[in-house]
Amino acid sequence: MAAWAGPAGAQGDGGTFTVSGKKGPFIRQVAGRKLGWTPGQGGSLGLASDAVNQGQYQQARLRMPQTEAAVRELIVRLQAQWPYPKGPPVQIFILGVDYYNAYSLPDNSIVVAFGLLDRARSDDEVAYVLGHELSHLLLGHFAAGAAAEQKRRETESRLGQLFLVASVLGDAAGHVGGSLGAATLAVRNAGASGDMLHFLVNVTAEPPHTRSQEDEADALGFDLSQGASFAAEDASASVFDTIQVDREQRRAAVDAMQSQLKSQLSEVVPRDVAQSFLGGGWSSSTLKQDLLTGGARAMLRAAGSRDPGSAHRPPIERKRGIAQYSVDAYPAGAPLREEQHAWLQRVRATTEFAQARIAVEAVQDAMKARSTGNYPEATAQIERASKTSFGGAPMVINEAARLREDMGDVAGADRLFARAEASPDQTVDGCVDHARMLYRAGQSDRALQVIETSTARFGNDEKPFLSLRIAIARQNGRKDEADRYLQRCVSYNDANLKHDCELAAGKKVEQQDKPSAPHISLPFGLPSLPHL
Ligand SMILES: [Zn+2]
Repeated sequence: MAAWAGPAGAQGDGGTFTVSGKKGPFIRQVAGRKLGWTPGQGGSLGLASDAVNQGQYQQARLRMPQTEAAVRELIVRLQAQWPYPKGPPVQIFILGVDYYNAYSLPDNSIVVAFGLLDRARSDDEVAYVLGHELSHLLLGHFAAGAAAEQKRRETESRLGQLFLVASVLGDAAGHVGGSLGAATLAVRNAGASGDMLHFLVNVTAEPPHTRSQEDEADALGFDLSQGASFAAEDASASVFDTIQVDREQRRAAVDAMQSQLKSQLSEVVPRDVAQSFLGGGWSSSTLKQDLLTGGARAMLRAAGSRDPGSAHRPPIERKRGIAQYSVDAYPAGAPLREEQHAWLQRVRATTEFAQARIAVEAVQDAMKARSTGNYPEATAQIERASKTSFGGAPMVINEAARLREDMGDVAGADRLFARAEASPDQTVDGCVDHARMLYRAGQSDRALQVIETSTARFGNDEKPFLSLRIAIARQNGRKDEADRYLQRCVSYNDANLKHDCELAAGKKVEQQDKPSAPHISLPFGLPSLPHL
């Protein structure tokens, strides 16, 4: 439903709602419009991994056959109102997150967050949200022409964590004679906070539609749900109110995790290096510090680049826009309709739904606990999730593996990641995390094996693994190979991907960001480490 957006100012075509109902319902206005819907040419969202353009590769996919079937029923009911060519059947995927959200993807799929079904107050709300997403598909908003106008979304940045953890762990272990020192733990927790932040920000991969496309989807979603006998008027209003609340909650969660990460990172910066900052000394001996600050920056940027709704019309404006549209398009007034609840009651009555609710909550709680180093609690939550019928879902297994690694059991984590990879629902992120862990543990060959298999699995898209390949080549003293991968990386013309690769290649990170004595000022709002 586009609560998250691309970089601020990326789109934005005017401040007012662009669909007027004065010429009648929008569904009639589009008669004769060339919809440009071309099967199989859905266009790319320009995400870090091409796999993310496909519903089946979403990060926290839960297989819920009964729920999917019920959602499909609603979609079919809405689609029946569309008098023009419909395209192939829509695929439905459920995402194991508590967000009040849904989005459509170029492969003609609609991804529904569990939270939408859990938090909606009526069938009409769900129908309106689904109608909006269906509208993006029906109106050809992913067609080549439209996609060309779309702003490329920034590549997600995970490598920062890799270097942050790899370089500093080595360092810290050295300082304290190989045992786990406070710095090591802080690094681990920072890594886990980074994982959580990454999850919060990236779990939904919403396409960057323009404002006018969003307005069209709002209007057509209204027509479709109105036509299918839902209370579109009331539903749209409460949907936008809930989106507003959801957005604030998500922002608060991201903010909290960001400040936790900042304070963990500030604990990590070794005192002697801080001293050399203060003395203005920034020499080659601080290469690790370069990587550390570069990593910190990358982690925070990954979160900061996608502030919720930064480029989108605020929900309150959408609510106002659609209310005006309704008055204009339906001058006789929409028929008074009671809110319906039968569909939601049926969806929520299944064991499948009850089990999913436990799994979704437990995994999130496990992530939160791991990010503060509370491993007993994280373990308990993972066990809780494992006991549900979703215990075999990569969403659960990947987090169990990350926890194992943090607790020092690399072999156990390796087995768990391998188990997640045996599932058809394994995600790009899970594979990246697996390879990253093996790299950190010095198991280059096995890491490369995972990278090879994963690259093939996700449509031979090498982008998510390029920086890791560079790091592995360097780890093994193969400088030419590292350079070759770096060149490939740069050729994709993606600023964040390039940044990650340069970090992996050990290039000094952006000169202008270097702290200048006597202030220690770290970029991206990282506070100036006052207690050092
Ligand atoms: Zn939308």
